[in-house]
Amino acid sequence: MASSYELRCRECGKRFDIQPLSICDDCFSPLEVVFDLPAIKSKFTREAIAQGPWNMWRYRALLPVPDSYIPVTPSGMTPLMAAPRLAKRIGAKNLYLKNDAVCLPTLSFKDRVVSVALAAAQGFGFDTVGCSSTGNLANAVAAQAARLGLKTCILVPADLEPAKILNTQIYGATLVRIDGNYDHCNRLCSQIADRFNWGFVNVNLRPYYAEGSKTFGFEIAEQLGWRLPDNVVVPMAGGSLITKIRKAFQELIDLGLVEPKTVRFFGAQATGCSPIVQAVKKGGEHIEPQRPQTIARSLAIGNPADGPYAARAIRESGGWAEDVSDVEIVSAIRELAETEGVFTETAGGVTTAVTARLYAHGRISPDDLTVVAITGNGLKTLDALDGKFEQLPAIRPRLADFEEAYLDRIQPGRAPAQPAAPAVEGAYAR
Ligand SMILES: *Cc1c(COP(=O)(O)O)cnc(C)c1O
Ligand SMILES: [Zn+2]
Repeated sequence: MASSYELRCRECGKRFDIQPLSICDDCFSPLEVVFDLPAIKSKFTREAIAQGPWNMWRYRALLPVPDSYIPVTPSGMTPLMAAPRLAKRIGAKNLYLKNDAVCLPTLSFKDRVVSVALAAAQGFGFDTVGCSSTGNLANAVAAQAARLGLKTCILVPADLEPAKILNTQIYGATLVRIDGNYDHCNRLCSQIADRFNWGFVNVNLRPYYAEGSKTFGFEIAEQLGWRLPDNVVVPMAGGSLITKIRKAFQELIDLGLVEPKTVRFFGAQATGCSPIVQAVKKGGEHIEPQRPQTIARSLAIGNPADGPYAARAIRESGGWAEDVSDVEIVSAIRELAETEGVFTETAGGVTTAVTARLYAHGRISPDDLTVVAITGNGLKTLDALDGKFEQLPAIRPRLADFEEAYLDRIQPGRAPAQPAAPAVEGAYAR
């Protein structure tokens, strides 16, 4: 390899020079970036990484960006948080959240993939970039393209959550609303990319984009003190993230940064769009496309591009996949917020509910070290919680009114203080 990486067909193995291309011209299978690991070994050490910036670019030796690229967006290095209160609720003992609800700049893990895709786009000389998106990707492309001064063309299903539309338009992006679902957007995107020679992050730049997800896995290992967990639970839309976390762990093993270990991968989807989960449950890798119908819009891809690879990664690792209903998603969003103070979007509700199910069904043993991937922020899917909270009547600003209406809710069973008389000694001695 001239560079430290190249493109390779995932099925026939044909090699390609670095270029904006995602499909093999021989067998029409997806292309993937492959690194020359021996050539990188001396650059990718724990010490070298520790000297890098406190963000995903500390792993740039294993990201497919031009050598001359100077990162402008400090995405990644989100908290890995112990989750003891959630763990107790669901029968786990050693549970962690990898919290990309606070990934910069747009509060989802898509900031990672876009950082890499736009670095590649600039290297290829594109002046216009875009994507087809279920929401978070649109936000990330719009924000980062603004910062890089690139023109944008972003396609989304017309019925997307209002917050995700606003969080795209605020950055000055051109938002194309499509009467149709994500899969329709994606098809049109391919045609536009071909016709106008633009860089679409999840079409002709997809191999570069996908590598950005590896940083989610690198960070988990580094934050565990250069160890791998026993299990990870990952939400799946196109199925890319779950396969790339696995690739990241394998690269760390191959480069000697962590002890070899088989990490089990568990996939999570909403029942209303669960083509990958159904494949796993049937014991195969064949994806039967679905028409999405769920509040988890960020995961609503009925015909997932990396579906077969995601199903294979789960099966090979000894993991499993589960799907949960929209009602369970909403309860899980609340449960995560109430136990750990983390407000996630619907995708995180899917992952949390699936994690609880996996423990309840004994698919994960209580003592295992499990990392739950929280990939997006609850402020973007407020509509999923519409009408879920009772508003108590407003009260006059008086202590007696407060005691009557609220005290029992805050400390159930606590008797009101005796007549709100002047506070004298002994007033609390009852
Ligand atoms: C896109 C997305 C995912 C899934 O990513 P894939 O790589 O397409 O499987 C998960 N969570 C959130 C919040 C997302 O926006
Ligand atoms: Zn091929």
